[in-house]
Amino acid sequence: MTVKYLLDEKEMPKQWYNLAADLPSKPLPPLGPDGKPISAQALAPVFPMNIIEQEVSSERWIDIPPEVGEMLSRWRPTPLRRAVFLERALGTPAKIFYKDESVSPAGSHKPNTAVAQAYYNKVFGIKHLTTETGAGQWGSALSFACSLVGLECKVFMVRVSFEQKPYRKFLMEAWGGKCIPSPSKETNFGRRILAEMPDTPGSLGIAISEAIEAAVSDASGKTRYSLGSVLNHVMLHQTVIGLEAQKQMAAAGESPDVVIGCVGGGSNFAGLSFPFIREKIHGKKIDVIAVEPSSCPTLTKAPFGYDHGDTAKMTPLLAMHSLGHAFVPTAIHAGGLRYHGMAPLVSQAVEDGLARAEAIPQLECFEAAILFARTEGILPAPETSHAIASAVRAAKRAKAEGKSKVILFNLSGHGFLDLSGYDKYLSGKLIDHEMTDAEVEVSRECLSGFPNPADVRKSL
Ligand SMILES: *Cc1c(COP(=O)(O)O)cnc(C)c1O
Repeated sequence: MTVKYLLDEKEMPKQWYNLAADLPSKPLPPLGPDGKPISAQALAPVFPMNIIEQEVSSERWIDIPPEVGEMLSRWRPTPLRRAVFLERALGTPAKIFYKDESVSPAGSHKPNTAVAQAYYNKVFGIKHLTTETGAGQWGSALSFACSLVGLECKVFMVRVSFEQKPYRKFLMEAWGGKCIPSPSKETNFGRRILAEMPDTPGSLGIAISEAIEAAVSDASGKTRYSLGSVLNHVMLHQTVIGLEAQKQMAAAGESPDVVIGCVGGGSNFAGLSFPFIREKIHGKKIDVIAVEPSSCPTLTKAPFGYDHGDTAKMTPLLAMHSLGHAFVPTAIHAGGLRYHGMAPLVSQAVEDGLARAEAIPQLECFEAAILFARTEGILPAPETSHAIASAVRAAKRAKAEGKSKVILFNLSGHGFLDLSGYDKYLSGKLIDHEMTDAEVEVSRECLSGFPNPADVRKSL
């Protein structure tokens, strides 16, 4: 019996796949402060022009530079595994496959875009990158990538995670990155938040504002900002996951009926699912599921509207599902996935009915993660446990219906640096938390002053 499908290095994808070329509804443009589509030039202080070109591209296939391919080859192609031991434990007729992105140097899918972004900044003549990080996965991935190409990297890390997860900071420093708790005294915005709310746990929205301010206020012009999810070019870079998985599923002689990924900003889900959504657009029947925590229900409960990507409203308005740029998530939740927005391409795919969303409470996710660790052996990141819980649900449905479904999910990362979350779960200290209707109403109000996507589409 085969439990892993490995690809030769020569079979690594040579191009990224851009879903924007195939979506039935053309993606809505980002808007500037005047409510009009923003020009590429207006983004130039924040991102290098070669990345902005990818961000707005409608080309279906975009070449992967050989230098980026070489960096990716350190850990790619990643294995596709069949979870036979989990299948047996569940007694399901379903076949469960997972793409194992935990084998990268930083332990998640995030280096796939980090090396591409570091490369494009380097060739554009940039010397320093700034970014934010929540649980620390992205900050460590970008520190690693910057060390490969020779860029300086400064990471604003959400304060509550900075205090709870010192090991991610040590990892960033090992790769030469600098890690600062956010809100910090380094930026005007950070100082303002600290004055207003000295005890704030921080949030990704706040850390993004700080990182953008730090980039655009560097007078040398050699600093840019880098984002680890949400934006179109990040979704693009992650499609190596799904493109490899397509070849590996074919090698296994299978084709997925269900494709699953957890969603924070949407990038690992997009990376696995977009090449399969292309098959779906061409008529194949696939149930594509984006899984989020019940405590941060961006796709299942928040409106699809225009909103800022950060708390200080420095980013353009993006057309996305959003809990509101002022959203500060509850600290009860152990895992990541706590961002207020959702990638515009993922949001649009859900609006177009090409993918659907599912919210799962955290105790069910940890239960699935522990079952996975005790059968397959890999301890998943708490984010990833949402995808596993959804795959377990799908496998149980298949059992109840007596159908042999083929399920594919993305194992976005391992949980070796998230062990305190497991400690809390195993010692019974975690509880479930759902956003109340009143809280969801607050996020609706946060978006109400911004243009309506339907009106913007009519005006195009
Ligand atoms: C960052 C992260 C996520 C969530 O981010 P996406 O952009 O939605 O993929 C999920 N899993 C792991 C392991 C992560 O590090």
